[in-house]
Amino acid sequence: MSFELPKLTYSYDALEPVIDAKTMEIHHSKHHAGYTKSINLALEKHPELESLSIEKLLKSFGDIPEGIRITVRNNGGGYYNHALYWEVMAPGGAKNPTGGLTKMIEQTFGSLDELKEQFSKEAVGRFGSGWAWLASDANKDLEVLSTPNQDSPISTGLTPILGIDVWEHAYYLNYQDKRANYVKAWWDIINWDVVYQKYQEV
Ligand code: MN
Repeated sequence: MSFELPKLTYSYDALEPVIDAKTMEIHHSKHHAGYTKSINLALEKHPELESLSIEKLLKSFGDIPEGIRITVRNNGGGYYNHALYWEVMAPGGAKNPTGGLTKMIEQTFGSLDELKEQFSKEAVGRFGSGWAWLASDANKDLEVLSTPNQDSPISTGLTPILGIDVWEHAYYLNYQDKRANYVKAWWDIINWDVVYQKYQEV
């Protein structure tokens, strides 16, 4: 089995003006395609791993042969994280949290605004390249965190339900060094239906 680059369910220009079409095209067809190709190349040498899902691979680094462990961490993480990123963004969908997620956000953070503030702080404050996340633990408790590089919360037992890529390749054409502006604008393109669905599946 090899992993396939997920197709977007919307066009490259669908998220404009928040994310421009050129950034989307390069990000999906070059960066995400690159992670996909690299994880597949690494796994080719290890047919014993070929039946494992990406989630399983990222949850069990300890069992991965040392020769490809870092590749799986970086490129497998890149493969998984970007698939989630495309999914949680959409031109349509609910513009605010729905269902039981609304209640959990209020219970955990006090309000949606407070969640956004904590999340944005993680996203803007992450030094260098990485991600910020809203994740759930096995008890469905929510937390906000950030990770370096392509590390994913899934490797530490959490399930990410919302994530923003803060590598410069995600925003530099449009926002240059102003990461905070990208993070601020990004809230307008979240599809909260998908986030809620992911939360329900935890
Ligand atoms: Mn990226």
